[in-house]
Amino acid sequence: MTATLPHLRVNSDRMLAAFNELSHNHRLGATGDGGVNRPTFSEAHLAARKWFREQIEKAGLEFRADGAGNHSAFLACGDRDAQTLLLGSHLDSVPNGGRFDGALGVMAAFEVLRTVNDAGLRLRLNLEAIDFTDEEGTLVGLLGSAALAGHLRHEILQNPRGGRASLLEGMKSAGLSDESMLSAARLKDSLAGYLELHIEQGKRLESAGMDIGIVSAIVGIWSYRLSFIGRADHAGTTSMDNRLDASLGASAFTLAAREIVMNDFPDCVVNVGRMEFSPGAFNIVPVRVDVSLEFRSPDEEEFQQLDGTLLECAKQEALRFGLELRVESLGKHSPTLMSEKIQQAFADACDGLRLTHISLSSGAGHDAQSLADVCPVGMIFVPSVEGASHSPREFTEWEDCVNGANVLLQAALRLAE
Ligand SMILES: [Zn+2]
Repeated sequence: MTATLPHLRVNSDRMLAAFNELSHNHRLGATGDGGVNRPTFSEAHLAARKWFREQIEKAGLEFRADGAGNHSAFLACGDRDAQTLLLGSHLDSVPNGGRFDGALGVMAAFEVLRTVNDAGLRLRLNLEAIDFTDEEGTLVGLLGSAALAGHLRHEILQNPRGGRASLLEGMKSAGLSDESMLSAARLKDSLAGYLELHIEQGKRLESAGMDIGIVSAIVGIWSYRLSFIGRADHAGTTSMDNRLDASLGASAFTLAAREIVMNDFPDCVVNVGRMEFSPGAFNIVPVRVDVSLEFRSPDEEEFQQLDGTLLECAKQEALRFGLELRVESLGKHSPTLMSEKIQQAFADACDGLRLTHISLSSGAGHDAQSLADVCPVGMIFVPSVEGASHSPREFTEWEDCVNGANVLLQAALRLAE
């Protein structure tokens, strides 16, 4: 690395001006209370995308768009066979979300390209600052990144979580189609890696007093429907010791699951998000309770252990109350590991900038998950004040945002030099 590169910094004022436009311009989705409302392909989202395109062109960078509606600023390195280092995030938001989630990462990536361009650096890799389509899942979730990675399939587009009608309408308003979506896959060898700056959306950095979180893994999610089955009886005439009450197994399991995770699996979380009682009446002992169970872990081995422990616990609680237990698996999404090399580049960048850093896992999903089997991926987090996210209360100090952008820049230079 040449002597000047470690001293290169993003232009904080320029990045702030762009970020403020996205945060406070009503036409681009600002809600006036500090938040933004920019669901995928809403009027505000389309306006924000158009605005981003104009910024790219004004900055003298090449604008690129693909069939999935991903928008990019592109900075060619001059070597026609060079791979591309992707930097980015997403401009869409959840309904009435915060102004930092996604938008910060896109603006930081864009600022990194402008900084490199201004400095006239000749790198080994092309740089691309990308705004991924529908990260938040208004329509599908991780849509643009899945399309780019070649994971999108016809069936997913036919049965999206936001409904087929919304997807069709959204694609039409953005000039896209099923065919264009499916054509957005990139050649695997064309990408050198993917780096993303994001807000933490939790309190760990704030509590630890750290500047930067280097993500080691994005947690996986396993989900089950557990059915505790007993016997329906008259709730007034059946004595307490003669009931096969399905609610007791379900409740005892929920409490025990919390204890298990808190005591033995500190990196994991468990959630019972729903209990459905049958028949569901004041005066009938419940014959059946269906429990929606989800747990998350950053580590595959830990997953297996937690899985075994939770299911054994459910079995024991069912037995204790004389119930039958039925177990239905509803999905096993593995953790996504971040590249060691990129984590090291981030750590070196932090050290060079004299910023404190810790390694942590991400409890939320991100586009890096889509790309992990296509190229090395890495993410950094900056502190979220009070951990607030997906809310207008979402806030990160501007200094932390700039620190994150500089780490992104320095890590990109380390990888692309
Ligand atoms: Zn996000």
